[in-house]
Amino acid sequence: MTNGRGAPRKPVILAVDAHAAALRDLSSDLRRRFGADYRVLTARTASAALARLRRLQASGDEVALLLADCWVPETSGVEFLGSAHALFPAAQRLLMFTFGDTPAADVIRQATTFQQADNCLPKPWHPAEQLLYPAVSDLLAAWSRVARPGPEVVQVIAQQWAPRSHEIRDLLSRNGVPFGFYTPDSQHGTEVMHYAGLIEDDLPALKMFDDRVLIKPANADVAAALGARTRTDGDTYDVTVIGAGPAGLAAAVYAASEGLSTLVLETEALGGQAGTSSMIRNYLGFPRGISGTDLTARAYEQAWTFGAEFLFFKTAAGLHPDSGRIIVDLRDGEQVASRTVVVATGVSYRKLAIPGAEALLGAGVFYGAASTEAPALHGRQAVIVGGANSAGQAAIHLAEHASDVILTVRGSRLADRMSEYLIRVIDRTPNIRVRLNTEVTGAHGSARLQAVTLTDRQTGTTERITSSALFVLIGAIPRTDWLAGAVQREDNGFVLTGGAITPAAAPAWPLSRAPQLLETSLPGVYAAGDVRHGSLKRVAAAVGEGATAIRLVHEQLDVATVLDG
Ligand SMILES: Cc1cc2nc3c(=O)[nH]c(=O)nc-3n(C[C@H](O)[C@H](O)[C@H](O)COP(=O)(O)OP(=O)(O)OC[C@H]3O[C@@H](n4cnc5c(N)ncnc54)[C@H](O)[C@@H]3O)c2cc1C
Repeated sequence: MTNGRGAPRKPVILAVDAHAAALRDLSSDLRRRFGADYRVLTARTASAALARLRRLQASGDEVALLLADCWVPETSGVEFLGSAHALFPAAQRLLMFTFGDTPAADVIRQATTFQQADNCLPKPWHPAEQLLYPAVSDLLAAWSRVARPGPEVVQVIAQQWAPRSHEIRDLLSRNGVPFGFYTPDSQHGTEVMHYAGLIEDDLPALKMFDDRVLIKPANADVAAALGARTRTDGDTYDVTVIGAGPAGLAAAVYAASEGLSTLVLETEALGGQAGTSSMIRNYLGFPRGISGTDLTARAYEQAWTFGAEFLFFKTAAGLHPDSGRIIVDLRDGEQVASRTVVVATGVSYRKLAIPGAEALLGAGVFYGAASTEAPALHGRQAVIVGGANSAGQAAIHLAEHASDVILTVRGSRLADRMSEYLIRVIDRTPNIRVRLNTEVTGAHGSARLQAVTLTDRQTGTTERITSSALFVLIGAIPRTDWLAGAVQREDNGFVLTGGAITPAAAPAWPLSRAPQLLETSLPGVYAAGDVRHGSLKRVAAAVGEGATAIRLVHEQLDVATVLDG
């Protein structure tokens, strides 16, 4: 859309308030700060605002932000934002309320819980520099991340539903690398295929920012092409952290900030499981929630700024003591020497053992919420397996894209394993259907998933339904196979620490002192987060354990220094 002089029309900020004076002040403050890039429009009633929005929609305009007073006449601020959002789903929503208005506070609490508003702001909003402008800037940044994606560092040319295509896009997205995705039959895809002389067999191919083209690259090739460090300098570190999920990142932040030389090894992507969560609502200090990618990207920046070194796509494959140091063996044959180690390798999804699922992995069958696939489900039906919070979150996120989301739960009540607030959002989301007492027993399709079989656990009745995607979130197993024989583990693989270590079991605790709180049966090796037996499986708990492990590392290093001295 262009204005009369051929320049692109600015996106719109629309403010709605019945009070003429307040609306005038608000629009003048908004114009002063944002007028160069946005058109600020106003309306005093919901019907006038909606009529305006319909005209904007018809003329192909963009709406970036909607601000509504809680008590917009004719309807309510929340209802207005709901109707407006249906017209402009990418627009951010800010609900305004007057200080001291207790009923409005209740409305706001509900609206943010049920994700009917993205933020709220008190009136008066002065000083604007401290209240209005930061809130509006944050929301405009969130809008522009979706509506104005930055330059593509990587262009992925691949088939939509090929397993490796999914894997590469998932890794790029979870590691925060801006990329574009093009199928080989799209216009740009065809151009790149032609430019690089590619044939179908060469896919997936990656066209990098510097025009290099990588054909069927391994993860480590992608990391190297992006300039990531792929080898250590051969130094002995004070602490090596294995895993860059919340526990590992917290350990890295505390270790590096306290002057310890720190190396972090990560096999896949920053953020671990938390990095796959579309919205974490219960982490302290983020009342309106934060995406797992955002939270863990901030933690990475923090650790990196303090001096922690990161090696990506490096898999720890074993560890053993050697002359007062711990040697970590990597899968690629490299070794890392360290005075102490924090194991923070978390858990991975339990696999769904049903006919057809393995063959369609990445081609419609996904473990975890697979946020990169969500936009491709527009107008399609998706099925989720699982009845705990991660499945609930995934359902709510996918419902924003898919036409229908079917949440299949083996048990007879959602409340058994899911938080109340998620159940309430699910109840209010019309395109999520919950099927209790139901198991997914088959996945069908040749090149990609087309249907799944559902079986009613009470009656045994089976039903085949169309589905483009099957998301499996059915619990987890610890990622500790590589520690077999090195440290004591429970039968189910979780790492034992502190008082849980059994003196008689192998490998035996070798010292006369007792193991420290998070110390494993190998002195100087600690476990933190989900990987540890008895862990709470929460971001905050993992972060707390990562930080605590470093306190214990200090004690260990102090003792070692005295002995060495
Ligand atoms: C979809 C979803 C939503 C969630 N939502 C919430 C929520 O809202 N609130 C909440 O509190 N919790 C939530 N959780 C749980 C929370 O994410 C976890 O408790 C938390 O991430 C655990 O952190 P961690 O660091 O211990 O392990 P992880 O997050 O699992 O991280 C472990 C890391 O170690 C890496 N790794 C594994 N093996 C190796 C190896 N051999 N070598 C090198 N690296 C390795 C992995 O790739 C991974 O990056 C959610 C989980 C999921 C899956």
